[in-house]
Amino acid sequence: MNRNFRTLDDMGNIAGQVVLVREDLNVPMADGAVSDDTRLRAAVPTVAELADKGARVVLLAHFGRPKGERTPDLSLALVTRPFEQVLGRPVRFVDDQGASEAIALLKDGDVAILENTRFDAGEEKNASETIDRLAALGDLYVNDAFSAAHRAHASTEGIAKKLPAFAGRQMEAELDALEKALGTPEHPVAAVVGGAKVSSKLDVLKHLVGRVDHLIIGGGMANTFLAARGVNVGKSLCEHDLTGTAEEIFDAADRAGCTIHLPYDVVVSKEFAANPPSLRSCNVHEVAADEMILDIGPAATEALADVLKNCRTLVWNGPLGAFETPPFDAATMALARTTAALTRDGSLVSVAGGGDTVAALNQAGVADAMTFVSTAGGAFLEWMEGKELPGVKALAR
Ligand code: ADP
Ligand code: MG
Repeated sequence: MNRNFRTLDDMGNIAGQVVLVREDLNVPMADGAVSDDTRLRAAVPTVAELADKGARVVLLAHFGRPKGERTPDLSLALVTRPFEQVLGRPVRFVDDQGASEAIALLKDGDVAILENTRFDAGEEKNASETIDRLAALGDLYVNDAFSAAHRAHASTEGIAKKLPAFAGRQMEAELDALEKALGTPEHPVAAVVGGAKVSSKLDVLKHLVGRVDHLIIGGGMANTFLAARGVNVGKSLCEHDLTGTAEEIFDAADRAGCTIHLPYDVVVSKEFAANPPSLRSCNVHEVAADEMILDIGPAATEALADVLKNCRTLVWNGPLGAFETPPFDAATMALARTTAALTRDGSLVSVAGGGDTVAALNQAGVADAMTFVSTAGGAFLEWMEGKELPGVKALAR
């Protein structure tokens, strides 16, 4: 693959060098303990590889939102032991007061975590004093935190311009997967966009119509598009003020040769509850005034699978229905299983992202079967909007 960034493979001999590595260590805590260590585990390959090559590895990361204040319960000291356990080797904590003295004591292969970068108000402002202070601590810079790359902060963007900069293994995998999905994908390409609101994903939709061959709209978003087509959506979640915008997206899709797929049938009920007595599925034109659409219907789900069978690439963000409440998870679970099967067969490259989408894939038990699942949240959505992410741009050769 012809890449615009350097990776750990391009670092040369790094024995004895201090490598500053931006990681995402922003783990959720409950009762003083890490409640989900996914992010810690994701940092291990890069950190272990650099340490094995004899580098003195110093991790840079933020933790919560201290807003430039030294906040004891947001100290990365709290994450040092948990990371040590996950990494399986000693990790020391380095306070940002006297950091250079502490780093000078590190030996080849040692690993340390520097205090929360956001204790310094200059971090989020990308202030030159902060950039200089951080850059002076190391010889080389590695950014392994795609999830923070949509922010132009000192530890994600500014520093990359001061030190030789490289993508870590996580960053590399994410950029390669995203390039395969929307940069130079194999066509036909389908995008599935669902979730609650059109307003939160307008830029995503506008970008995708110019990029993909099929745009499949589900979830609450579909209701706004159906309403724009004159469908009475009853009590459904619907942004009636955006029907004009929906029309513009239909027109842009027509011009770009992108087919927009809306559901023909839907699952409705009069109340939003698990397995409600008023549950039924019907044609979109038969929704009663007191009903709400909570999932796309079985015919639409099957049609979606048929589209995917003829596609080579899928990008997916947003559940097709209110998947947290059964049986409104049916279409989302079916899509997850279909995508997993097509990916396993080698006929589809599948990339999915978004907080609720990842939860839905886990609920279906198929997250591992996707080509790539992005846990990057905001950065993933900005990438789906076609935006250039500052932390990625700063890594360009
Ligand atoms: P992601 O986090 O993957 O980007 P979103 O946050 O945009 O996804 O949307 C997820 C939410 O959309 C879920 O909470 C789901 O219940 C809701 N949702 C999906 N379809 C509907 C619908 N028809 N009516 C109401 N809510 C829906
Ligand atoms: Mg969400």
